[in-house]
Amino acid sequence: MPIIDDLTPTRRGFLGLAAGAGALAAAGSQAPAQEKVSTSARIVIIGAGAAGAALANRLDERLDGAEITLIDGRVEHWYQPGFTLIAAGLQPASYSVSRTPKWLPRRATLIEDWAAEIDPEAKRVTTVGGEVVEYDFLIVASGLKLDWEAIEGFSLDMVGKDGIGAVYAGPDYAEATWRAMDRFTDTGGQALFTRPATEMKCAGAPLKYTFLTDDYARRKGNRGKVEITYAAHSKSLFGVPIVNEKVRMLYEDRGVNVVHDHVLKAIDPGAKLCTFATPEGDVELPYDFTNVIPPMRAPDAVRNSPLPWADRWTDQGWVEVDMHTLRHARYPEVFAVGDVAGVPKGKTAASVKWQVPVVEDHLVAQIAGREGTESYDGYTSCPLITRVGRAMLIEFDYDNNLVPSFPGVIAPLEELWVSWLMKEVALKATYNAMLRGQA
Ligand SMILES: Cc1cc2nc3c(=O)[nH]c(=O)nc-3n(C[C@H](O)[C@H](O)[C@H](O)COP(=O)(O)OP(=O)(O)OC[C@H]3O[C@@H](n4cnc5c(N)ncnc54)[C@H](O)[C@@H]3O)c2cc1C
Repeated sequence: MPIIDDLTPTRRGFLGLAAGAGALAAAGSQAPAQEKVSTSARIVIIGAGAAGAALANRLDERLDGAEITLIDGRVEHWYQPGFTLIAAGLQPASYSVSRTPKWLPRRATLIEDWAAEIDPEAKRVTTVGGEVVEYDFLIVASGLKLDWEAIEGFSLDMVGKDGIGAVYAGPDYAEATWRAMDRFTDTGGQALFTRPATEMKCAGAPLKYTFLTDDYARRKGNRGKVEITYAAHSKSLFGVPIVNEKVRMLYEDRGVNVVHDHVLKAIDPGAKLCTFATPEGDVELPYDFTNVIPPMRAPDAVRNSPLPWADRWTDQGWVEVDMHTLRHARYPEVFAVGDVAGVPKGKTAASVKWQVPVVEDHLVAQIAGREGTESYDGYTSCPLITRVGRAMLIEFDYDNNLVPSFPGVIAPLEELWVSWLMKEVALKATYNAMLRGQA
């Protein structure tokens, strides 16, 4: 990919690593090995997804003698950034699926079960099957729960039928969503897009799928037969003001109607109506095609434990950690990383890339009797697809500063082919390198 190799990243952003990883492989070089810290610590990681696998590999490299145990009831790894491509008919469902053990260090143990109870006072986790796992250090990397039951009238077996999509639900559901969107953009009608009012992973994904539906309708010469409405949960479309304004302008340009302060609460597939909670009371809007995205919360085992914030996100249950070290505020031997961490930004795989080395640093330092020094700045990245072959590479931090990986080369707010390539080609390689602890 010469166009990427020519670029010199000034900040090693997530996607910037694709260029860096390529250069590293070409030179056959390795980062200098750090001296291992000897320990017999029992480290338990809840969740073997993006954050859990990446951290297990990095700790395996840094620690000698540690007992690393991962707990995860799903031994299928899902590359979730691929779901949008699957739901756009550009990849099959299998594109996002691999076996979890493939990504884990050989010395680690994987317990194939769900964590059911976390007791941070007794320092133990109990699984659904009743296994009790004691720890010296706990990493909560459980991702989040999609709360489908919160949408009245909805069930996952509806996906792919009668114009109902659910890109977030998993690889097969993303593929079924593509079939529904493909049919819809043939026949036309009303497309209705939503997002939940909770924190959510990849907040750009609902916007991307709206753009993609518009694009397919145009490509088929059917845009005249299609009405598109985006129902935003708040007064804005995206949390970063400058990006919000850009998306607003693009939606205006593409003829996407926007309604604000609409939160999906129910769906009636028979009548093809969605019901929204709004400040003026419930409002019904019709659809012929919709992408249901439910509220997102910490998994029940986390939510029902003493780990969440008591006074923030009380309906969501994110873990109470320091926003820079990701260490628990009340239990110093507990960290949270990835989507489940209770920090103001950072529910993307790109954020995981930046969070994992911070947790590694503080955990290894603690074991070695030192202070950790690394700090997470909220880095979040969203390759915002605006049509097939074009995307905006949006990267930002806690303060809503744009922090582009390639300043002066890839403009974050421009719809570029190279930004599309980053999403379509480079992201998966970078993600896989991250899982192996190499990026
Ligand atoms: C449609 C879509 C598009 C996206 N696009 C992008 C993108 O373009 N760029 C980007 O950077 N990010 C994107 N993301 C977000 C990204 O995939 C997530 O932020 C990332 O996977 C978070 O990693 P994680 O380890 O926290 O969670 P996950 O990768 O979800 O892993 C969590 C793991 O914990 C396990 N688990 C859950 N509950 C329990 C329990 N009780 N006990 C044990 N294990 C448990 C799960 O089985 C899972 O394996 C997208 C996500 C979606 C859904």
